[in-house]
Amino acid sequence: MRAAPTQFRAELAQTAEGIVASGKGILAADESTGTIGKRFKDINVENTEENRRAYRELLFTAGGDLKQYLGGVILYEETLTQKTSDGKLFPDFLRELGIYVGIKVDKGTVNLNGTNGETTTQGLDGLAERCADYYKKGARFAKWRCVLKIGANEPSILAIEENANVLARYASICQGNGLVPIVEPEILMDGDHDLEKAVQVAEKVLAAVYKKLNDHHIFLEGTLLKPNMVCPGENCPKKYTPDEIGQATVTVLQRTVPAAVPGITFLSGGQSEEDATVHLNAMNKVPGKKPWKLTFSYGRALQFSVLQAWKGNASNVKTAQTELLKRAKANWEAAQGKYTG
Ligand code: 13P
Repeated sequence: MRAAPTQFRAELAQTAEGIVASGKGILAADESTGTIGKRFKDINVENTEENRRAYRELLFTAGGDLKQYLGGVILYEETLTQKTSDGKLFPDFLRELGIYVGIKVDKGTVNLNGTNGETTTQGLDGLAERCADYYKKGARFAKWRCVLKIGANEPSILAIEENANVLARYASICQGNGLVPIVEPEILMDGDHDLEKAVQVAEKVLAAVYKKLNDHHIFLEGTLLKPNMVCPGENCPKKYTPDEIGQATVTVLQRTVPAAVPGITFLSGGQSEEDATVHLNAMNKVPGKKPWKLTFSYGRALQFSVLQAWKGNASNVKTAQTELLKRAKANWEAAQGKYTG
């Protein structure tokens, strides 16, 4: 059998399965310095290295049952070398809790010339060396985000093919260095398209991604997929129930994602915290074949209430941590189809 360097095969599969075991999901705390700056601005917090460190410490030290709900946390590079206030490196702290450490390794999007504002994602140069270094620092999985959009003529064939290929190259480099690649082809919710259109596009994009992963000999058992939920455009006049969205998403995944993939960890993509939980629950309640775990890898939908409660004030840390535990538990329940609100 081809695919993936032998020395990491067993470990990659074990890591991927461990991250999504027993309803666990992922906290995406990998906002770049620019993105976390936007979140801080909303709550009037200055974007300094110490504030970023203090905020990430708040998240990781929430205690309670956090380790029961989270199989992984995705970090931004800076956080990998930061420490808790009592001097422990964040990756060591998380690993001791039994939570796998992930790292965002892409370097953001750039325009594809000749398209209507479509993009590819860069960051392949030097990636092997960076992955080897991240592994030494305790990371065991990685994330790379590609972005596609729905329009009259989008996504173009060029955008679909280019993004699928770059995701496969990234996945190959990660697996060669012991990191489980989270493959993230995000189709944005922008637009007024209906659910049927979102289904068609998601099928084309995911089918192209799995063709390229196969072409690049990716060991699927040692990967995770991070897609958007299949939802209508945010300006679509027609409204759909959570059950309709759940059914549409599961149908697309059944048609495109091989059973060898251990887990599908959805992004929240700008949905409200409650919608992201309710939709995940609906997916897990869809009857029929679901050979992969369906769980969460949320950024905004796990952190919105936390940021609002914290507001940069040390005396609010406990309350903010309670908010994180509340959302993490709700999504852990939803990943098992047991969320009741
Ligand atoms: P959201 O859940 O806020 O969409 O972020 C998840 C993520 O990691 C996007 O790359």
